[in-house]
Amino acid sequence: MECISVFDMLKIGVGPSSSHTLGPWRAAERWIKELKDKNRFDKVEKISVDLYGSLSLTGKGHATDYAVMLGLSGADPERIPVDTIDVIIASIKNTNTLLFNNEKPLEFNPKTEITFNRKFLPFHANALTFTATINGRNYKSTYYSIGGGFVVQEERKVAKANKIIFYCTFPYPTETGVDLLKFCNDLNLPISGVVLENEKSINDENHIDSELSRIWNTMLECMYVGCHTEGNLPGGLNVRRRAYDMHQKLKGDLPYQSPEEWLQVIRKTEVKFRQILKWVSCFALAVNEVNASLGRVVTAPTNGSAGVIPAVLMYYMVIENHEADFEHIKRFLLVAGEIGSIFKKGATISAAMGGCQAEIGVSSAMAAGALCELLGGTPEQVLVAAEIAMEHHLGLTCDPIGGLVQVPCIERNSMGAIKAINAAELALDTDPNNVKVPLDKVVNTMWETAKDMNSKYKETSEGGLAVGVNLVDC
Ligand code: SF4
Repeated sequence: MECISVFDMLKIGVGPSSSHTLGPWRAAERWIKELKDKNRFDKVEKISVDLYGSLSLTGKGHATDYAVMLGLSGADPERIPVDTIDVIIASIKNTNTLLFNNEKPLEFNPKTEITFNRKFLPFHANALTFTATINGRNYKSTYYSIGGGFVVQEERKVAKANKIIFYCTFPYPTETGVDLLKFCNDLNLPISGVVLENEKSINDENHIDSELSRIWNTMLECMYVGCHTEGNLPGGLNVRRRAYDMHQKLKGDLPYQSPEEWLQVIRKTEVKFRQILKWVSCFALAVNEVNASLGRVVTAPTNGSAGVIPAVLMYYMVIENHEADFEHIKRFLLVAGEIGSIFKKGATISAAMGGCQAEIGVSSAMAAGALCELLGGTPEQVLVAAEIAMEHHLGLTCDPIGGLVQVPCIERNSMGAIKAINAAELALDTDPNNVKVPLDKVVNTMWETAKDMNSKYKETSEGGLAVGVNLVDC
């Protein structure tokens, strides 16, 4: 059984894609570590990268080539100032030199050293191979970006084939909703309580609180930046940012100077009934507009779906409970992370494996369950909320126009957030004993649907909305 922490499901990074940006970036970091561990790093004369499958087909729009160059340059996706990204990339392109791990200058022409192969490797649709030349010999390492910024290597594939068991060290390990409910009942704890006990087996509670607080502050800042930035998104589709205009119409006249003050001001603003949906949509759009412009976001559980969870949490804080504090935020994020991990273990959070149901569907389920707990739902109702949210995303395809995480992705986050709120409300009025489709059934159905889905609907931009739309050269 895999041990998946809430901090594996919610990660601070850079847009636009967790599988196509964060994963390849992390893969480059891991390759550098591998070279160092084998005492090869100092001897490297030349490096190159091959992108395969979906990483190749939508890699340009998802900035996979940029992510690889940043990872090879030793930049940390969590900490890099986002305004330095263009500077690093421009320097590599203009000088054909890459400062390997920020230590060792190597000749590197991105046009010839990064190859986009249409071919798919068998283990996963998102594969990349790094090659280091040492004394004229090539050393290759292949990594797979399996969604949500998770990266695995060939050994993992071999381990899976040989049925090697990974032991989980959590005191209350869960693979399914049934496991989770059993621990809730045995310990007489809400879902957030069980998840916290597991997290405490790895880190002390002060550390958990400070990391969850950092995640929330990143989400808040991301919404703030998105609501206060005008103009068109990069990439050639000329998509206009909409969160700015929506926010201008919704916000009142009270002044603010920072994301925290902004939050307090919004909480004091009178929100009319028909504005509730607009506020939720505005929060979600803001995050994904920041994501589409290579800004800082929290992968939740992916970058393409990063807007759903913050939008629903803001809904709780701005509409439902003006007294909500860090304890509410903490419980929300713990529940969301746990539900995401159940989908990751039982199905997938990779659009290249399961289409958009694996991104927006999973994020909506995570948010629905988390909101349900904060609204007073029992653990059983929390799982019902997650199930309802996913049930109505089953079969959702991934067909980003131009391989950019913009259309339909940005709007889709607002739809996922609204569905999550509705799912939580429906679950609160549902008797869990009368539910026909439990969460574990919908996880399994999502995976079966993923396997049946034509590959053109799995983040390849070869089907659906992605076909027949002309991009403007830029
Ligand atoms: S269509 Fe959905 S899964 Fe595909 S890139 Fe956009 S948000 Fe991600």
